[in-house]
Amino acid sequence: MSRQLLFVTVLILAVSAPSAQAAPAHFDGKTWWDYVKVLAADNKQGRETGSPGLAAAEEYVVAQLRQSGLQPAGSKGFYQPVGFQAHQIVEKDCRLALVHDGKTDPLTLGEDALFATRADLAPQVQAPLVFVGWGLTVPEQNYDDLAGLDLHGKVAVILNGAPAEIPGPLAAHYRSSSESWKALHKAGAIGVVSIPNPASIDIPWSRLALNRTHVSMSLADPKFETAAGEQLSVIFNPAHAAQLFAGSGHTFDEIIAVAKERKQLPRFPLAVTIKAVTKLQKEEVQSANIVAKLPGSDPELKKEYVVLSAHIDHVGVGAPVNGDSIYNGAMDNGSGSALLLDVAASLKKSGDKLKRSLLFVFVTGEEKGLLGSRYFSAYPTVDPKSIVADINVDMFLPIVPLKLLTVQGIAESDLGDVARQVAEAQGVKVQADPQPQRNLFVRSDQYNFIRHGIPALAMTIAPDPNSAEQKQLFKDWITNRYHAPSDDLDQPVDLSAAAQYEEVIRALMAQVADNPQRPQWKPYSFFRRYAENPSQY
Ligand SMILES: [Zn+2]
Repeated sequence: MSRQLLFVTVLILAVSAPSAQAAPAHFDGKTWWDYVKVLAADNKQGRETGSPGLAAAEEYVVAQLRQSGLQPAGSKGFYQPVGFQAHQIVEKDCRLALVHDGKTDPLTLGEDALFATRADLAPQVQAPLVFVGWGLTVPEQNYDDLAGLDLHGKVAVILNGAPAEIPGPLAAHYRSSSESWKALHKAGAIGVVSIPNPASIDIPWSRLALNRTHVSMSLADPKFETAAGEQLSVIFNPAHAAQLFAGSGHTFDEIIAVAKERKQLPRFPLAVTIKAVTKLQKEEVQSANIVAKLPGSDPELKKEYVVLSAHIDHVGVGAPVNGDSIYNGAMDNGSGSALLLDVAASLKKSGDKLKRSLLFVFVTGEEKGLLGSRYFSAYPTVDPKSIVADINVDMFLPIVPLKLLTVQGIAESDLGDVARQVAEAQGVKVQADPQPQRNLFVRSDQYNFIRHGIPALAMTIAPDPNSAEQKQLFKDWITNRYHAPSDDLDQPVDLSAAAQYEEVIRALMAQVADNPQRPQWKPYSFFRRYAENPSQY
């Protein structure tokens, strides 16, 4: 899962008790875990995009796909090469300060703030700051935080999150870094300072700061540029954010109090100016997606594909935590990549024939901002019109028994109805995203398929809403293991939950592959527009 934009608001939905569960017919959890053990082993060095560790993991995946009888469907055998440009901040040559009444107050990098290096930062920037609240522009809801503000040549200060009045998937879409920047750029802004919402942060500031000089990447092809004109991008420590508001007539505490209510925030010019000197080191990096197909059995429907996708990259080697510097990414997303391998093997073993063809897509660069899937969805290796659906699997967290699934995109297309039906047939309940503020709908690869008009969804195992203990377990997992070296092979995993989850995914995929009708967007879905007019981003 990509760590762009991390916020949590807890909202609990009442769920009735599930009916009896049958034992999974095709999976035992053990073969799945055996794949995870290889992909998340220390010798894969955390599978950083472009690294030898990721290349070794991909070689292993290709060998397994061959064994399961899948055919190459990339542009070079099983591979689809993807070029990246890597950015790394040279922090010793960087400065950041706030200027107030002609007085310069230097900021401490890592303590007060850090540079986000997704954009090609300008070497020097000095500009007034304007607090733009949530910084959201949502035309469909006549909602605009930027209305009436003068942002020309200025840097926008944003509190991450969204007001309750904007539906979750829509807020997630406009909150994504590319859409958010598009609106700010149009309004004349030259940069962004974003403040993580302190009530709802996934990764603690200390861990964000620890890896602040880690390499970031963009796709080498300039067609994919989404940060044009973004001269400055800073993430500000919420614990130190009060200084941004000095002399403005407002306090950060006051803003946070309104944010807790999830209402529209006040917006106003700040009294301080930001001053930055940055140096970026740039480098070309090569990596690849992996694409494999299993031809369908129906003479007509076999021309269409159901995609099962998972990102195989993770964040590599980073700052040590408790003496461990390998960020193994066992759950994120060794777990999803292993599931694809396990499903492919199970199809060979069972000999089941599905009418449509299946496409297994292992994408790279997810942790860098969903880049491998963006590349694949823009340059698919099969006819784009032939892709009927994407089922994405990312960090599904089998850490409690599977009774409840959270389905991202459940109400957007009839894929959600099929997901509900196959889950319930196995005694598993489903729910819409109970934490829309975390933006999970746009934080993994399904989003790029959606932007190209393809109905898609992703699902993760959810804690029992009536169990404080299970909820705490998930919260602790995110705080301590998510994007940390301890997301490794030495953690508690519920193999029967993993097996049950695989069974649901397999049944969903089979149903979509065999159904005479292609999945359809709901008439009211915001994302339906991309089916008529695919995104150029
Ligand atoms: Zn991740």
